[in-house]
Amino acid sequence: MNRRDFISGSTGAMVAGALLTSDSVAADKPGDLRLATFRFDVTPPKGHSLCGGWIRPVVGVDDPLEAMGYVLLGVGKPIVVCAVDWTGLANSAHIQWRKALADAARTAIDRVAVQCVHQHNAPFACMDAQAIVQEQGDLPDIVNPGFFARCLKNAGDAVTKSLKKTTPVTHIAHGEARVEKVAANRRIIGLNGKLISQRGSSSRKPEHHRFPEGLIDPMLKTVAFYNGNKKLVASHFYACHPMSYYGDGRVSADFCGLARRRMQKQEPDCLHLYFNGCGGNIGAGKYNNGSKEARIELTQRMFDGITTSNATLKPEPIRSFAWETEDILPPLDPRFNEEQLLVGIRNKTNRVVARNRPSYTVAFIRRVKEGIPITLSSLHVNDISMLHLPAESFIEYQLRAQAIAPNRFVACAAYGDGGPWYIPVKEAYPQGGYAVGVAWCSPQIDPLMSNGIQTLLSRS
Ligand SMILES: [Zn+2]
Repeated sequence: MNRRDFISGSTGAMVAGALLTSDSVAADKPGDLRLATFRFDVTPPKGHSLCGGWIRPVVGVDDPLEAMGYVLLGVGKPIVVCAVDWTGLANSAHIQWRKALADAARTAIDRVAVQCVHQHNAPFACMDAQAIVQEQGDLPDIVNPGFFARCLKNAGDAVTKSLKKTTPVTHIAHGEARVEKVAANRRIIGLNGKLISQRGSSSRKPEHHRFPEGLIDPMLKTVAFYNGNKKLVASHFYACHPMSYYGDGRVSADFCGLARRRMQKQEPDCLHLYFNGCGGNIGAGKYNNGSKEARIELTQRMFDGITTSNATLKPEPIRSFAWETEDILPPLDPRFNEEQLLVGIRNKTNRVVARNRPSYTVAFIRRVKEGIPITLSSLHVNDISMLHLPAESFIEYQLRAQAIAPNRFVACAAYGDGGPWYIPVKEAYPQGGYAVGVAWCSPQIDPLMSNGIQTLLSRS
């Protein structure tokens, strides 16, 4: 059975279609729902590659990287949702990670969502790109296969252990708060309709600080599960590249992860999770000059957002519950040619970035040729929907999702399967710029993603 068969056979659209009936819970038996939480370390060892191997590798650890999440039991097969402090998990690495969690929870892979936070002093795992890079013999790893295997083993062990102690889930709450002075749109468009300046995660250019925020989602959203009035898990969602500075070899969960950890310390009995929303075209560059002080300030602003959002939570009994999936087959952009890219990868005079990065492109081309889809998923509880979306999706997808379901509270986690790298909206392609240059999908990804999101929300 090839991988395509594995996915479609065990987890295809047919299963998703049947979930509404098998997964819905009646109002009279909310007590059947139970929850377990897990948490394990995913900090890479000294010398390990960071962000694909073209920035400085690990020289030390400022603060650890973690993977954490929850297992929901009692509505069909278990559901697993996991957040990982890594740059990304692409293609088979993402599938392997979900499978490790699925096996440990005794569920199907399409009932597992794994979303990265996208810090850059962190691993960016793609086992297919790693195999290409390894073949060259002279390139730094994308991700060390032994380390990756240890993380998968720890993932399985953490889930198995968590299931020994489950807690009833009776209530859910949602809240939100505006985060001040963090997110801004990275793409500054000129009168000619083209991108004239990329405002990165940090900038020292006065015009980048002066220029307005542009299109963002300013709200940090929180969804929390409760047993009675005891808060068990709080998931926080905010769309922004999470880097204040990177490239110095110092591993860190950075300002979003640090804010999450501070809240975790304050409320040790509740597991706090942080999910990056559709932040592909969003960064902190308007408010961040890349200094150590700026990391502290950004952490404080995120913490304030989480605290204020937390304060608006009002638990209500769980009345309805559904898990939905929708598979899309990503369309490859014809700009990218496997043979041409391999010539560049084999050329030992090219810089590491010009060899390791196209290895991700080749991995994605091969994945598309094999017909391996990307799974979008959603967890609908009462009038709350949590969406799990792939890669570096642009903010427009998150705003569209909220717009088409105005009566629902829609929270988006992106950076799931990182295979496609950036997922711009179709209007962004002719504007050009960095993100479009490293978007492996054609503009046809836009209607596919949009329809997929619409389908998931229509089943809420
Ligand atoms: Zn990014």
